[in-house]
Amino acid sequence: MSQDFIVFGAPDICEEEILEVITTMRSGWLGTGPKVKEFEELFAAFKGMDAEQAVAVNSCTAALHLSLLAAGVGPDDEVLTTPLTFCATANAILHTGATPVLVDVDPQTMNIDPSAIAARITPRTKALMPVHFAGLPCAMDEILAIARDHRLTVIEDCAHAVEATYRGRATGTLGDFGCFSFYATKNVTTGEGGMVVSRDIAQAQRMRMLALHGMTRDAWKRFSDEGYAHYQVVEAGFKYNMMDMQAAIGVHQLARVNGGWERRKTIWNRYREALADLPVILPAEPPGYVRHAYHLFTLQIDATHSPVSRDVFIRRMTAVGIGVGVHYLALPAHPYYQDHLGWRPDDTPHASAIGRSTVSLPLSPALSDAQVQRVINAVTAILCQA
Ligand SMILES: *Cc1c(COP(=O)(O)O)cnc(C)c1O
Repeated sequence: MSQDFIVFGAPDICEEEILEVITTMRSGWLGTGPKVKEFEELFAAFKGMDAEQAVAVNSCTAALHLSLLAAGVGPDDEVLTTPLTFCATANAILHTGATPVLVDVDPQTMNIDPSAIAARITPRTKALMPVHFAGLPCAMDEILAIARDHRLTVIEDCAHAVEATYRGRATGTLGDFGCFSFYATKNVTTGEGGMVVSRDIAQAQRMRMLALHGMTRDAWKRFSDEGYAHYQVVEAGFKYNMMDMQAAIGVHQLARVNGGWERRKTIWNRYREALADLPVILPAEPPGYVRHAYHLFTLQIDATHSPVSRDVFIRRMTAVGIGVGVHYLALPAHPYYQDHLGWRPDDTPHASAIGRSTVSLPLSPALSDAQVQRVINAVTAILCQA
């Protein structure tokens, strides 16, 4: 058996994107320019939207922040979200001056529990920020009905869910805003990068402006052969724009998005079948009305049912050359949120229990069949010992 280390979340990089980056570098235009525009057009088409509705940015965190600002979220507002997410979801809310408010997850889907949302709504609640955890779409019919009743903006954190659909509709297009990540480990990568899509074109235009210092014309147009044009600063914006070198990677990653999805689906189903009899909890089978994005395959290893603890399992996997991930320690486990927001793990018991027991297996489309088998053999060996 090969002892080569299996890197968790290894990207699937092909010759096309390597050559496209070189071409972009030789073009002399590295910043936000024609490649970013092409990537926005391709992404919008992939989501069934108009090109103006998609704004490429330098991270999903930036996309979340801009969506909240476009929705008018600010100090004194509350935004409901899930405790089982990456810290960026909550931090983006905090950076608007608003307060994130946690709603516990459904222990089966690991997504925000729609039946627990209403109890957390107050007169200050302005928006809902569901996260399609692991690539499984949230219960959007219920979430959108609550949003309608209480006039809340819905911002979908689609960092795990670029390929997902819910009752035939693409994730990110169900709510008012959809935020995507192209970080190195995500299903589509540009190294670092993100995209925000907006139902409302005027809000997309505002986010495009805010993403580049609040200037009225982007740099590409300023310096292009159309002639120099003065820009005007109309808001105190941010430095959130994507570079052409990143978009050069993204256009080819997006062109292969279905192949990557098929491969991860195969691996995901292989894990489910091969690990079915082990003393762990496997992810739930997705219902027929969704397309799962297969971003994460998570096991729950809890010391009362499994022969080893989650953290011992992680150490043993690493020792045999297999990188694993933890998605996530629930947000209330972190000292910042405890100290500044008073969050306690017991307030969201389902997410906290998942956070203590969850571990994610490698699911990169770049994994070979032999590597997948090596992961299965290692998991089985660790969990079958008495
Ligand atoms: C990765 C991730 C983010 C942040 O994405 P970046 O592109 O790294 O800013 C936000 N939310 C979730 C759920 C994520 O997994």
